[in-house]
Amino acid sequence: MRTIFLAICSCLLVASFNHQAVDAVAIIDIETMDLETLEKTKKNPAFSWWSELGDSLVVGGLHKKLLESGLDFQNMWSQLLAEDLVLVVAGHRHELPAGMKLIAQSGRIMLATQGQGLESNDHMKVMKFEKNKTYVESSTHSRKQHSLNTEQSSIVKAIMDEVDVVRWYGDVATLTNWNRHISSVDIVSARDWFKSQFESLNPASVTLQKFSVSGRDAWNVVATFNPTEAGDIYVVGGHYDSISEQTSRAAPGAEDNASGSAGVLEMARVFASRKTSATFIFIVFSGEEQGLWGSKAYVRSLPTNVKSRIKAVINMDMIGYSTDDSEDVLLETSRDFKHLTDQFATAASLVPGLRYFTTFNPFGSDHMPFIDNGIPAILTIDNDWGSYPAYHRTTDTIDKISREMGAAILKMNVAALAVMAGAE
Ligand SMILES: [Zn+2]
Repeated sequence: MRTIFLAICSCLLVASFNHQAVDAVAIIDIETMDLETLEKTKKNPAFSWWSELGDSLVVGGLHKKLLESGLDFQNMWSQLLAEDLVLVVAGHRHELPAGMKLIAQSGRIMLATQGQGLESNDHMKVMKFEKNKTYVESSTHSRKQHSLNTEQSSIVKAIMDEVDVVRWYGDVATLTNWNRHISSVDIVSARDWFKSQFESLNPASVTLQKFSVSGRDAWNVVATFNPTEAGDIYVVGGHYDSISEQTSRAAPGAEDNASGSAGVLEMARVFASRKTSATFIFIVFSGEEQGLWGSKAYVRSLPTNVKSRIKAVINMDMIGYSTDDSEDVLLETSRDFKHLTDQFATAASLVPGLRYFTTFNPFGSDHMPFIDNGIPAILTIDNDWGSYPAYHRTTDTIDKISREMGAAILKMNVAALAVMAGAE
């Protein structure tokens, strides 16, 4: 027995020193590959596993076999196994801790080599990597069949046309004039501005919801339209507080998140007088940057019979930055609410030039307290924010904001809400 064992062992030893048995991980660029070709590529006998990550197909197998496959790889790492990898969702900056190597990335989702004892924290979620799984699906290879008839499409398009991107951009600029860090006196001016903007739309109510962040007062601004006893409720939200490396000096937060909170206001204008049986609640949250305090306080305040009537929550956090002239949006929710990504994918297909990416590893923004309480919620975020140099800095100013990016996400969200709520 012992002899045989040794014999097997030495065989393996010989094999492992032989180049043929070395494992490798490689990347294939699938940005423009159609779904059929992608599915065929995944079945290539040279691969022992694959992983779909937006514009990248990550594959693993014997180094020699990968080289012999004749495929065009963007990158390849020899002596790397699937077991060496982890999935990281960036909550804040995208820099990986020292010792970790980035293998592939789509927006805030990164595939990396394992760091020593790396665990999830406030800034990143670290997950076990599983083979043969789609982590981020791009609209280029969407499995979704878009399903709006011609009449629906024309109604929805008419509503989308009411988005006024110049007005939204002007509001983003207005908000950047205030330091909106929760320790700044100026954030009260931003709060009151939102309140009066909502009031001018004649909602049933506008309330300031006060809560406390480490002993400091903070406020959500909540505008409710068409409240009913038992009807469906749709919530649109985004945080208006901001942060920077020097909050005592300035925290203009143009992208993060004047863009999204001004988006909430712009959507309120579009839906304020729409005929529908649903209730619309538009909220701008505070205390997000210190740990989602505003959205947590709001969810905590909801009676059970209201929670169960909420059909969807749309969170906008950073909707105005693009590194290039292609508009990319990330649709993020939990797998329980997959129907939301399907609905938003349909909506995105109505916006010319907008590419979308879907993922089911939600993290780190105001959609989380809703999802954690079983309420369907989705984050809509531009997919380039991770490479935004002014992120959380005093330089996050209006000149960095793209009207086209903001308009694309707003129109998608307006279309999705119009369809879900049956707006006319
Ligand atoms: Zn934010």
